[in-house]
Amino acid sequence: MTERTLLMIPGPIEFEPEVLRALGRQSPSHMDPDFARAFGRALKRMRDVFAAPSGQPFIVAGSGTLAMELAVANVIEAGDRAVVASTGYFSDRMGSILERLGAEVEHVRPVALGDAPDLAAVEKALASGKTKLLAITHVDTSTGVRAPVQELAKLARDRGVLSAVDGVCATAGEAMEQEAWGIDLALTASQKAIGVPPGLALLMASKRAIEAHRARKTKVHSMYLDWGEWLPIMDGYERGAPAYFATPAVNLVAALDVALGHIVEEGMSARVARHDRLASAFRAAWKALGLRLLPARAELCANTLSAVYYPAGVDASFVGRVRAAGIVIAGGLHPDAKTKYFRVGHMGVLGASDVIATIAAIERALAKSGYKFDLGAGVAAAQKSL
Ligand SMILES: *Cc1c(COP(=O)(O)O)cnc(C)c1O
Repeated sequence: MTERTLLMIPGPIEFEPEVLRALGRQSPSHMDPDFARAFGRALKRMRDVFAAPSGQPFIVAGSGTLAMELAVANVIEAGDRAVVASTGYFSDRMGSILERLGAEVEHVRPVALGDAPDLAAVEKALASGKTKLLAITHVDTSTGVRAPVQELAKLARDRGVLSAVDGVCATAGEAMEQEAWGIDLALTASQKAIGVPPGLALLMASKRAIEAHRARKTKVHSMYLDWGEWLPIMDGYERGAPAYFATPAVNLVAALDVALGHIVEEGMSARVARHDRLASAFRAAWKALGLRLLPARAELCANTLSAVYYPAGVDASFVGRVRAAGIVIAGGLHPDAKTKYFRVGHMGVLGASDVIATIAAIERALAKSGYKFDLGAGVAAAQKSL
C-alpha cells in the first residue's frame, strides 16, 4: 500500500502546502508585531468569510466542540430555555452542552433519520415559552443533512430569540450570510472547510449576542470560555497591539491567516459554487451506481459531504477497501445507523480530479465487495456532471 493517500473525510481535510509550511516554522512570540498583523488579518478575513461586516470574531485554541461551548456558554444562564433544531449527532451534542449550562432544552426532531425538523414545529417550540436561543446545525456531519438555516434563523429573529449556527462542517463551503440572515452566533473549526489542521475554534458573534453577554446576571463559569477575557485580546490583535490572556496557538493562527487569504482570494460565492458543482458530480455518481443517500430529499443534501448507505451485501469493511485503493473515507457516525453507511467529505481545496479519483476507488472497492453494477458508471456520470 502506498503512503500517498487522498484524505476525503469530513475533516480533517487535505491542506494546501502553503498552509502546512506556516505550521513548520519556528513559533513566533505571541507579542511579535508580524504575528500580531497575521492575527489581526485573520480576524478581519473571518468577517468576509462569515459575511458579517459588523460581527465580533474570536479565534481560540480548541476544537469545534470548544467553539460550540464558546458560543453558547456566554449567552446562556442556568434556567434559560433553548430549542435545538435537530438534524443528527452534533445537534444532540449541542443539546448536551446547553443542558450542562443549566438550560432547559427542547429538541425538535425530524420525523425520521435523514430529515430536517418541520419549520412549523420549530416555530411552535420557540413560542411555547420564553426562549433565549435556537441552536441549528448547518450541516450535521453524522447525516449529511443541510438544515434550512436561513428559514430557521428567521424564525428566531422574528421572535427576538438568539440563533446559534454550528457551521463546523459548512462554513466556507456552504452559502451562509451571517448578517443578512440574522444569525447571532456562527461557529466553526479550522480542520473542515476552512482548511487548517485541527486546533482552532472560530466564532463570530453579532452585536445582539455581545449585548446578551453583557446583560448576564451571572459570571460565565469557565474562565477560558469567557468573552470578557477574550474581547480585549481580539480587539488588541485587530489594532496591532497584542495582549496576553492565554497563549494563542501561534503557528495555527499563522496558518489560518494563509488559508483565509486563499478563501478570500477565491471569493465566497465562487467557492460555494465550486462546492456545489463538485457535490453535484458526487450525487450524479451515487445515483448512477444505484446507491441510496441518508438525506431524505435532494434539497437536504450537503455540498460538503455525502452520507451514503452501503448497498445490500456490503458492510463497513468497505471503508478499508477504499483505503487500500488510496482514498481515505469515513464510516457512519449516527448511533441509529452507524454500521449502515459511509461518508465522503468533499470540502476545501479539492477539484474535479479528486472527485473522479475518489469515485473510481469507491467503484473498485464496490466491485471487490461483490456488488453488481456497471463498472465505470459512477465515473462517467460524474464526468458528465462536471
Ligand atoms: C466536526 C464537527 C463538530 C466537532 O468538531 P471537533 O473539532 O471534532 O470538536 C461539531 N459540529 C459539527 C457539525 C461537526 O462537523
